[in-house]
Amino acid sequence: MSSAASAAEPAAECDLAVVGGGILGLAVARELLRRRPGARLQVLEGEAGIGRHQTGHSSGVVHAGIYYEPGSLKARLCVEGARELYAYCDEMGIPYERPGKLVVAVEESELAGLDELERRGLANGVPGLRRLAAAEIAAVEPNARGAAALHSPATGIVDFLAVAESYAADVRRAGGAVVLGARVGGAVASPGGIAIRHARGTTTAAAAVFCAGLWSDRLAVACGAPADPRIVPFRGGYLRLPPAAARLVRANVYPVPDPGLPFLGAHLTRNLAGEVLVGPSALIAPARDAYALRRVRARDLGETLAWPGTWRLAAHHWRAGARELRHGLSRRAFVDEAARMVPALRGVRAAAAPAGIRAQALGRDGRLLDDFVVDRTERAIHVRNAPSPAATSALPLARLIADQLDALG
Ligand SMILES: Cc1cc2nc3c(=O)[nH]c(=O)nc-3n(C[C@H](O)[C@H](O)[C@H](O)COP(=O)(O)OP(=O)(O)OC[C@H]3O[C@@H](n4cnc5c(N)ncnc54)[C@H](O)[C@@H]3O)c2cc1C
Repeated sequence: MSSAASAAEPAAECDLAVVGGGILGLAVARELLRRRPGARLQVLEGEAGIGRHQTGHSSGVVHAGIYYEPGSLKARLCVEGARELYAYCDEMGIPYERPGKLVVAVEESELAGLDELERRGLANGVPGLRRLAAAEIAAVEPNARGAAALHSPATGIVDFLAVAESYAADVRRAGGAVVLGARVGGAVASPGGIAIRHARGTTTAAAAVFCAGLWSDRLAVACGAPADPRIVPFRGGYLRLPPAAARLVRANVYPVPDPGLPFLGAHLTRNLAGEVLVGPSALIAPARDAYALRRVRARDLGETLAWPGTWRLAAHHWRAGARELRHGLSRRAFVDEAARMVPALRGVRAAAAPAGIRAQALGRDGRLLDDFVVDRTERAIHVRNAPSPAATSALPLARLIADQLDALG
């Protein structure tokens, strides 16, 4: 959908405002209009188009729900979200594939980690999850090698930007407006409503939901929420395999992740265009929009460095940090990391592909928040942590957020 097709004027007053036109903000807007048909709703998006940040820079994997601690929001909403997302794509004619995924324990020392993933996946109700012995791996992924693996046939691939555009179209059909170029600077709540100041004026709503991804902490704090947690931007760099090497990978191949970090490790994913990407890496970035490696923003960097959690995190995870830095500096080292799982990739020369930046909440105590986190201030709900698999989980996560808004009264 072109920006022109979505050009809408900001209203001075409305019933509901959603700040952020990523997949989550749009799913929330859609859900709010389903609950309150005829409500005057405005999505206020800062960029000239929707989905220009995390939503448009993801791996495009419809996660099946393997990794998440049973009982967590992620565990529940991922399994539910994947099922609903496939049904939505079927209904709307949005292309997707379900090629499945393999999580490979390359060495015996990784088997305990694989056991834990199997336990979690089964507890979470991941459909069709199956343990493979070393000799069974090649039947699923002919060039992968390991001591054992988990196979998830329900894992899929989709273009999340196409899904977000479809949610935006649903919003417009239901009478809502998606206003672009409306970067929000702050908001003030009063008994009369919440006045949201943005680049195109001020919009006063009865209530608002903030789904601002990489900038969510700043907006929450501006509305009176606590400073903890802070968003720290983690740059995820990708490499694209040349076509001959891409043919060595049938579907999605992941390592057993570091249990102390909420990232999944450098994986191999096949997208709908048939390309195979290696990535994403996970390096703290010097700007919240550091898509170009050299982009540094003094405010972003200053806030990250001034946050006590950053230093505690660095002290705990310096080894992982050093490994990620090596992957950031050397394409060869990055490809060789993926070649642990698919040895035929060793030495393959890969090209740089567009990077994404994760909005990852980091506590003052140095803890990377794993689960989805939603906060509230007067007349507003704030999404404070919605990292992967929030794109997969957007439909049920939007219901949970709408429930919280209903509870505001
Ligand atoms: C590298 C990478 C790989 C990922 N892979 C996957 C995956 O395979 N599967 C999966 O399920 N998830 C994945 N994710 C996670 C997923 O992309 C996010 O969880 C999801 O996109 C979050 O959606 P969002 O709408 O909250 O955030 P975003 O898409 O970042 O949207 C936030 C929006 O808010 C707007 N905004 C911010 N500040 C303001 C302001 N002040 N005023 C107005 N607008 C503002 C931004 O412009 C943006 O459009 C990945 C993420 C990354 C970065």
